[in-house]
Amino acid sequence: MKVLVVGAGIAGLSTAWALTRRGVQVEVFEQGPVPCPVATSYDEHRITRHAYGEMHGYARLMPAAFQVWDALFGDIGARHFEPMPVVVVQREDVPWLNASLADLDALHVGWRELPLASVPARYPMLETAGLSRVVETDGGGVLFPIRILTDLVRTLANRGVVFHPRHKVTAIDAERGTVTVNGREFSGDHVVIAAGAWLTKLVPDLAPVTVPSRQAVAFLAPPTDLARAWADAPVFIDIGKDSGTYTLPPRPGTRLKVGDHEFSRSGDPDGDREGTDADVARLMTAARLAYRDFDRYTILERKACFYTVTEDEAFHVRALGARATVQSACSGHGFKLAPLMGDGIARSLTGAAPAGDLAAWAAGRT
Ligand SMILES: Cc1cc2nc3c(=O)[nH]c(=O)nc-3n(C[C@H](O)[C@H](O)[C@H](O)COP(=O)(O)OP(=O)(O)OC[C@H]3O[C@@H](n4cnc5c(N)ncnc54)[C@H](O)[C@@H]3O)c2cc1C
Repeated sequence: MKVLVVGAGIAGLSTAWALTRRGVQVEVFEQGPVPCPVATSYDEHRITRHAYGEMHGYARLMPAAFQVWDALFGDIGARHFEPMPVVVVQREDVPWLNASLADLDALHVGWRELPLASVPARYPMLETAGLSRVVETDGGGVLFPIRILTDLVRTLANRGVVFHPRHKVTAIDAERGTVTVNGREFSGDHVVIAAGAWLTKLVPDLAPVTVPSRQAVAFLAPPTDLARAWADAPVFIDIGKDSGTYTLPPRPGTRLKVGDHEFSRSGDPDGDREGTDADVARLMTAARLAYRDFDRYTILERKACFYTVTEDEAFHVRALGARATVQSACSGHGFKLAPLMGDGIARSLTGAAPAGDLAAWAAGRT
C-alpha cells in the first residue's frame, strides 16, 4: 500500500510515522521546506495536559495520546518533552475548572488546590488581584515541536519515506488517490490531506466547517528580578474572562511565551506573520491582568500563527471520496493529539480498526 500525505506538519509527519510502522510506503508533499517554518506546528513549545474542561471525550483520549507519544519518542531516539505542573489560575467562576478536575479524578491524575495566601511566594509573577482559585495539576508539560519535527523527518527519511519539499499540491482526486503538483500527477492507494490552516484552499467544500483563524502570541524576556522564578515556573493557564491567557515558561532552547485562546476566525495563512498591534491588543490587556508588572517585560517577538477552528473545537478527520482522508486538527489542541490521530488513521487505513468509527473517535465522541 502506498499513501500520499499532503503537509509535513505534526499531523502529516505523525501519520507518515504511524503508517511506516505498519509497513506502508509513504510519500510526503510539502509546499515549503521540510519541516516548514510557516507550519503551525513549527514553534518552540506546545502544552500537553489531561485537563480538558467540558471536552470530556478528549480528556479520555489523553492517556492513549501519551502512550503514542512514548512510542514516537522511542522511535526517534529522543524524548522532546518536559513534564511539569499545569497551574490553572481562576479569577471568575467558570465551569471549565471543575469539569477538568472531575476528569483528572476519573483518570487518577493528581491535582492540588493552592492556598491563595501561598501564591505570592510560590509564583511571584502572578497578579493576585481577583484570584479565586489556583490549582496545580499533574499529567501535563511541554512538548518541543521544532525538535520533534526535525527528528521525525530524519527518522522517516531513514525508513524510506520519500519527501517532496517545495511541492505545492494544487489538486487532489479523492476517488483515484492522486495529487497534482505543477501539472504533474502522483498516484497512491490513498491520500491523507494534512494541510493545516491551508486545508480549505485544497478542499473548498470544507470552508464552512473548518475556518482558518489568525492567532497571536508574544515571546518575552522577564524582568531580571523575576528571571529565577520564571526559570522554574510551570505552565500557567489563566481562565479569567478578561485575563484568559496560556503561558509557557522559558526553558533551555525556548523563550517565555504568552498567548490567548480567543479565536479571530479570520485571516489568510499565506499572509504576513508579524504580529500587529491589532493582533496582540486583547492578549496584552489580558496579560496585564494575569501578570504583575507586565509592562516591565520585554517583548522579543510578536508572532501571528494559524490554526483552523470548528464550531465545537473537535478534530475533523473523515473520509473524502473513496481514496482520501482529511486530517484537520482544530483550535489550539492539535499538537498534543496529532500522533494519536495519525495512529488512528493508520489503523483504519490498514484495516486494524473500522474505518466507519474514525470521524466520531477523532471528534472525541466515543
Ligand atoms: C498560537 C498557537 C498555539 C497553540 N498551542 C497549542 C498547544 O499548546 N498544544 C497543542 O496541542 N496544540 C497547540 N496548538 C495547535 C497545534 O499547533 C496545531 O493544531 C498543529 O500544529 C497543526 O498541525 P498540522 O500538521 O495540522 O498543521 P501545520 O503544522 O500547519 O502543517 C500543515 C503543513 O501543510 C503544508 N501545506 C499546506 N498546503 C499545502 C499544499 N497545498 N501542498 C503541500 N503542502 C501544503 C504547510 O506548508 C504545512 O507545513 C497551537 C496553535 C497555535 C497557532
